[in-house]
Amino acid sequence: MATYAYRCPDCGTFDVTRPMGEAPERVECPRCAASSPRQWTAPLLAQMDPALRSALAREEKSRDVPEVVTRASGTTRR
Ligand SMILES: [Zn+2]
Repeated sequence: MATYAYRCPDCGTFDVTRPMGEAPERVECPRCAASSPRQWTAPLLAQMDPALRSALAREEKSRDVPEVVTRASGTTRR
């Protein structure tokens, strides 16, 4: 998954997590559902504002939780 930045005309920027290469040009704002264009920012921006940085830090933290913890035990190995 990758995080993409969008900018709502009313609410400002927000992040959307999508599979790599599947970020649409526009998405609906999570707050007001306005059509928001994608921000074309570099993934690792050296000069980013502190609010965005902390948002990314939180995102980074959530990555520590594995998506799949255990294998499905539907099949029995012999
Ligand atoms: Zn909005």
